[in-house]
Amino acid sequence: MKKLIKNFAIFFIVFLIIAAIFSSFATQGDKAETVGLETLISQINSGQVSDIVVVGNKINVTLKDGKKEMAQKEAVDSFSTLLNNFKVDPSKMVGVSISVKDESGLDYWLANIIPFVLPFLLVGVFLYFMMRGLQNANSRAMSFGQSTAKDFAPDEKSRVTFKDVAGAKEAKEELAEIVEFLRYPKKFHELGAKIPRGVLLLGAPGTGKTLLARSVAGEAQVPFFHMSGSEFVEMFVGVGASRVRSLFQKAKKSAPCILFIDEIDAVGRRRGAGLGGSHDEREQTLNQILVEMDGFEPTQNIIVIAATNRPDVLDPALLRPGRFDRRVVIDLPDLKDREAILRVHSRRKPLAKEANLKTIAERTAGFSGADLANILNEAAILAARSGRKEIVNEDLFEAIEKVMIGPERKSRVITEKEKKITAYHEAGHALVAHFSPTADPVHKVSIIARGSAGGYTLKVPSEDRHMHAKSEFISEIAVLLAGHLVEKDIFGEVTTGATSDLRRATALARSLVTDYGMSDKLGPRTYGEKEEMIFLGREIHEQRDYSEKVAEKIDEEIANFIKAGEEEAKTIIVEHRTQLESIVAALLEKETIEKTEFENLVGPKPKAA
Ligand code: ADP
Ligand code: MG
Ligand code: ZN
Repeated sequence: MKKLIKNFAIFFIVFLIIAAIFSSFATQGDKAETVGLETLISQINSGQVSDIVVVGNKINVTLKDGKKEMAQKEAVDSFSTLLNNFKVDPSKMVGVSISVKDESGLDYWLANIIPFVLPFLLVGVFLYFMMRGLQNANSRAMSFGQSTAKDFAPDEKSRVTFKDVAGAKEAKEELAEIVEFLRYPKKFHELGAKIPRGVLLLGAPGTGKTLLARSVAGEAQVPFFHMSGSEFVEMFVGVGASRVRSLFQKAKKSAPCILFIDEIDAVGRRRGAGLGGSHDEREQTLNQILVEMDGFEPTQNIIVIAATNRPDVLDPALLRPGRFDRRVVIDLPDLKDREAILRVHSRRKPLAKEANLKTIAERTAGFSGADLANILNEAAILAARSGRKEIVNEDLFEAIEKVMIGPERKSRVITEKEKKITAYHEAGHALVAHFSPTADPVHKVSIIARGSAGGYTLKVPSEDRHMHAKSEFISEIAVLLAGHLVEKDIFGEVTTGATSDLRRATALARSLVTDYGMSDKLGPRTYGEKEEMIFLGREIHEQRDYSEKVAEKIDEEIANFIKAGEEEAKTIIVEHRTQLESIVAALLEKETIEKTEFENLVGPKPKAA
């Protein structure tokens, strides 16, 4: 209804404009006075006329005194016949210039036709818009259950291939096989081999799952249907299932092809878990996916690739042979891969000669491919902002910190007292991190606010690690507590600045006890069943599988681990008091200390035994 009113308003406005144009046309014509033929003839006879222009049946007359007149003649007679009929003396016509114009001029047509046609035209346009509105609404309703899959058969230029995916060697090898299946299916069918139906890509966010899936399609040069798990789910039960059906139908028509379901955990969560209404729809959608995957013939050459970063919540039925039986795990990139990814993304960016991607890779342990791509982008922006033509190392380092902690907030006003507290706090973190042999080395200490932090100490692991020992965790707790401890030591009381440190230390200590089995008292077992349940939009995690008594013991052990960390930190702080003061002095003076400067102040980092 609103639309109708809107259309009508548009119609009305257009009408007004046209009417306005017309009236201006009309008044222009009105300036010439309309006269009868007799008047005209008498004027000719009395020699008042200087100029006559005949356009069709209209006679435009200009008098000698400049006045304009207009007369109408009969259609059949020409002007000269007219003059004859009125017996005008030819000598009277000598001084009068007569010209006859073709009446096909634009003005003529406009003036003659528009008054008749325009109303119809306007009504037509109005109806057209109305119909179109209705039709849109209609087709939207009709296509509600259709899949909204985006199909791209990419052209040469924008095609993504394995070359665009750096690192991920194992994953690429696995997927190369899939490419082979799609390109030469006969080779495999002849030997009676079944082509896998589903491939599940597992990996942390930003590790390049979506990118890999697209590169498979690019390598195999087959159509690629892309749909995200959440796109199946609408408010109404049954829509998801119907979309799945239509998606597979589309795919079957253009086989061989790849059907990619991104973020499949949105629909593929374990069935039966979850409170509230939404899981009903999800279950139906999931069931339909299972049915469709079972339904297509092995000779149909459709390969379903799905991606998720939550394999733990997937329904076991999805993982059964014949469905997503191939699993490809994509790890966070290691040092070599990080450098390769940086290289890929710096292809179209002008890097300064001295810019060293290897050092950037070294400083970014634990970063995903997406983070690295982001770093290069941020660096380019920083370079552009400072008016450089090339990206230099500085830009890259700054970008790392920006991505890690947030942008610097130099403008935040802090009092001298706050500055001093922050300096001691960060110096505490840095000192303990440095002198605790198993903690990661310090790369930078700063008391410039960044993101939500008042200051920060940047520690970077010297190598890629996948396993950690108990002593490392204790050191980590010590480092986290150090800021708080130093504040208390120096100022006699603590500020709110240490809250997130304490929270992280506590969470770490809890994991030591309940997840890693590192408590001697409680033994090598885990505590608490982590189960996914969605209730009112919140995930409720833990389910207790231990008694009240054990819970007490867990709390005790957590306290013990925190105590151990505290002791370690205290020892270091007491032993290296002078160095602490020199870090603080340097921080208050320069606000930021880099790695080499820091090591000059405090000496080399002790080696782990
Ligand atoms: P995911 O789907 O795993 O969350 P994406 O595939 O969307 O991650 O990756 C996000 C972006 O990160 C990609 O568009 C790409 O720019 C970059 N990226 C991630 N991994 C790689 C890689 N191995 N090589 C090159 N670029 C990568
Ligand atoms: Mg993705
Ligand atoms: Zn802190």
